[in-house]
Amino acid sequence: MWQILINRFKQGYRTIAYPKQVPGFPGRYRGRPVDVKGPVNLGELLFNEEAAAEGCFTYSKDHRMAVSNKEDLVAQGDEIRLAGALNDKMKRLFGRSLKLRQVCAGGCNGCEAEIQVTNIVVFDLSRFGIQFVASPRHADGLVITGPVTKNMELALKKTYEAMPHPKIVIAVGSCAISGGPFRGSTEVRNGADSVVPVDLYIPGCPPHPLTILDGLLRMLDRLEKKQ
Ligand code: SF4
Repeated sequence: MWQILINRFKQGYRTIAYPKQVPGFPGRYRGRPVDVKGPVNLGELLFNEEAAAEGCFTYSKDHRMAVSNKEDLVAQGDEIRLAGALNDKMKRLFGRSLKLRQVCAGGCNGCEAEIQVTNIVVFDLSRFGIQFVASPRHADGLVITGPVTKNMELALKKTYEAMPHPKIVIAVGSCAISGGPFRGSTEVRNGADSVVPVDLYIPGCPPHPLTILDGLLRMLDRLEKKQ
């Protein structure tokens, strides 16, 4: 018992200071493309080496990628119109307490793993009043991952319909935005917005936990104005 307490004391405070301070990323981290020479669709990008190897962009360490409108995912240069905040009424309702229901509508589970990581002590999503709940009846927002397989389409619609108004829908990952690597398959719907309206698109394959956190806080207007 004492040893556990001593070990815990030695570990110290592990939660990052974000959003006041952005932590460093490992060398292999692939953030938002920069030096973009032609149109790059962040919602379709799989963030692999092959895409950059064609020479039309390089990966930066910038984790900020979430947008409110799908058109804004197409980067023509280094600028991107990041997600805006909810309107005042929605901010009053959800700004300090947002309950989310997550639905995996296909995909590889990589995005769910990163969403789970936002809950660990390092990122500590709940310190912002954002928590995941088991029932859509208790949820303010729906977080969708996966390309929406035909088998999951009805379940996704029913989950959306079961949530009370007003509600928010967040598409996390290339699959949920565009179908990702499954795009074009006869068994998928190529993204969540073909089934339910989407308010926030968070690109990545999978998105880094900070990209997810940035998107959520941006939508709730909880970031410093300059970020
Ligand atoms: S976007 Fe990538 S990581 Fe996320 S579910 Fe699809 S294939 Fe997996």
